Amino acid sequence: MKSFTSIARWADLDLLLRASLKCEEASLFRHPMDDDEWRRTCQRIQDVVLLAGGDAFSRVGEHIAGLIQAVDPVMTGYCRLTCPACSDPCCNGQKVFFNRTDLIYLAAIGETGVPGQTRCGQGHPCRYLGGEGCRLSRRSRPYVCVWFLCEPQMELLQGEPARFQRTITEALQEIRHARLMLEALFELTTGTWSAGNTGRPTAPGLAPS
Ligand code: SF4
Ligand code: SF4
Repeated sequence: MKSFTSIARWADLDLLLRASLKCEEASLFRHPMDDDEWRRTCQRIQDVVLLAGGDAFSRVGEHIAGLIQAVDPVMTGYCRLTCPACSDPCCNGQKVFFNRTDLIYLAAIGETGVPGQTRCGQGHPCRYLGGEGCRLSRRSRPYVCVWFLCEPQMELLQGEPARFQRTITEALQEIRHARLMLEALFELTTGTWSAGNTGRPTAPGLAPS
């Protein structure tokens, strides 16, 4: 995997600072949704991105998408080696959802084709799980599905040269930081900025349900 130019070299300083004040992404929208609720939620978020002019969001979003594309061959390679014989597939987990930052990111890259939350109801299987694995491209998945390396995959990574391991780790950290920047940008646009991620945004229509 090639090295990359860090977002810290070109992004707005205020945004970088705000992202660094955040410890983690807000845990919003991580619940089953029917497709109408999903569409309404995505539309509200797309409206905010458009309100901000789109460019600031899309630059950060495309940076994230590029990094996901760069790590994809490694992750896919590990999946080919480990998943076919897996006795407890992680995609069967019931707590995998798109969160708000995922939706901001999808809006930022103009991805409007994801039809719904991972499940409409509690106990349902993930709607994207097919016989050959995930039917979503890696760049359109919930981020938890992008970065997750299970134990056998961690062992594979630990068997790689140190420099390679460092590049992958740095890419994942960079994505995490860039996602916090998207979240900060979103909150600044909606007037709900919070370094603490209290989970209580106040903008009309964006409150968690
Ligand atoms: S990523 Fe790991 S836990 Fe998930 S299905 Fe593949 S082998 Fe199993
Ligand atoms: S979105 Fe894809 S990777 Fe994530 S749980 Fe569903 S099938 Fe698995």
